[in-house]
Amino acid sequence: MLVRRPLRRARRLAHSLGCTALALATGGCAVTTAAVAAEPDLVIARARVFDGRSAQLRENAEILIAAGKVVEIRTAGGIGAPVVAATPGAATGAPRVIDAGNRIVIPGLIDAHVHPTIAVPIAQLRDNDPNYVASRSTVEARRMLLRGFTTIRDMAGPSFGLKQAIDEGVIEGPRIFPSGAMVSQTSGHGDFRGRSGTPRRWTGELDVTERLGYGLIADGPDEVAAAVREQLRAGASQIKLAAGGGISSLYDPIDSVQYFEQELGAAVQAAADWGTYVAVHAYTPAAIRRSVEAGVRSIEHAHLVDEATMKLIAERGVFLSPQAYVFGGVFAGGAPSAAGPPPTAAQLAQREKSRMVSAGLDRMMKLAKKHGVKIAFGTDVFGGSRVFDWESREFGARLPWFTSLEILRQATSINGELLALSGARNPYAGGQLGVIEPGAWADLLVVDGNPLEDIRVLEDPQRSLRVIVKDGKVVRSTLD
Ligand SMILES: [Zn+2]
Repeated sequence: MLVRRPLRRARRLAHSLGCTALALATGGCAVTTAAVAAEPDLVIARARVFDGRSAQLRENAEILIAAGKVVEIRTAGGIGAPVVAATPGAATGAPRVIDAGNRIVIPGLIDAHVHPTIAVPIAQLRDNDPNYVASRSTVEARRMLLRGFTTIRDMAGPSFGLKQAIDEGVIEGPRIFPSGAMVSQTSGHGDFRGRSGTPRRWTGELDVTERLGYGLIADGPDEVAAAVREQLRAGASQIKLAAGGGISSLYDPIDSVQYFEQELGAAVQAAADWGTYVAVHAYTPAAIRRSVEAGVRSIEHAHLVDEATMKLIAERGVFLSPQAYVFGGVFAGGAPSAAGPPPTAAQLAQREKSRMVSAGLDRMMKLAKKHGVKIAFGTDVFGGSRVFDWESREFGARLPWFTSLEILRQATSINGELLALSGARNPYAGGQLGVIEPGAWADLLVVDGNPLEDIRVLEDPQRSLRVIVKDGKVVRSTLD
């Protein structure tokens, strides 16, 4: 049985591909070894395929999927047309066929900067039962998948268990590339202690946000290396460091440069020793430059960058991971409510930081485009359902600087390249992400409308995503 079954499968596929057993046996049939080796369990027929890169759609295509991977993309009417004629349920083992009806099929979307485990506002993380926050995270993870994001890079937060439950099929959600806790210096962007938080170094106490795995405070090369190794041991696929001031952290000025060269170098070395890389949170030229010089591969945000620093990013082939929607002014307006208490000095400072960052957005995007930087697609949504729902708005928010096709490439193949930097620590190293090609993971979306011409169709995923496939499994389909 163990021997015969694959043979029977190969024969059946060969038959469906229009070959006789004799032709197959004598090598007279144009069936590739790969095709014979894997019988499709899912076929997307009558598809117009965007492969993640090419502006040219592949028309009238059939995508054959087996064991979670794309095994073949072929033109209908060529060899193997009979496969799509299979009636669902006609015979045990017949592939499920979804007729895309000449709609466009794109790779599953990737969000390169998001925080599924910050499912309540940061300040509330310390006041809630962690199980409550985790329950909300599972709901948000599923909603991300239904928005078409089949893969996310978690840029700080304890998402190891969430990832495990998703990978095991216990709950539905995207593939997760976890960073674990954001490693931060004392007083840095990942130092979420309250105003009167006690100094860890002298009391030995971790802050609750550190115990929960959102941030980890480390000072000096030795501690930084140890903090990085803790995340790697827990299963991080890349490392996130705070290299400069932030908005959601209340007590670090936006212009503050965080971590010395030696500390950044220690993090980069500790990550490289495990075959992966470091991404940093940084807005300013000084913070970005120091990070790039230390060997950091991905700059998160960068809204206050200058031209010389953008050139350096381009020269070193470093990825830029900016956000247009959440830093486009949605937080900056915040007029004080007449009903509530007056804002604290820290809250006023936070508003000013937000204003500065959104003011830098236009210039940063123009510089990035001018210098041909590799631009990732990341949304940085966190804090609650209302904000998570903004995830899809990042598409249209980039239109002032990029074409729809460019934005679609950012969210698919370019993000796929970024994720591949995890190298030996890539949890999904068996296939490519962000592309539709033989050997890639079968993560794909059948879309109503043409996102290559108008990316905004992806802003209404409930309506435009007719089929969502992740790992070769149909998550949602309104077509069969
Ligand atoms: Zn973030």
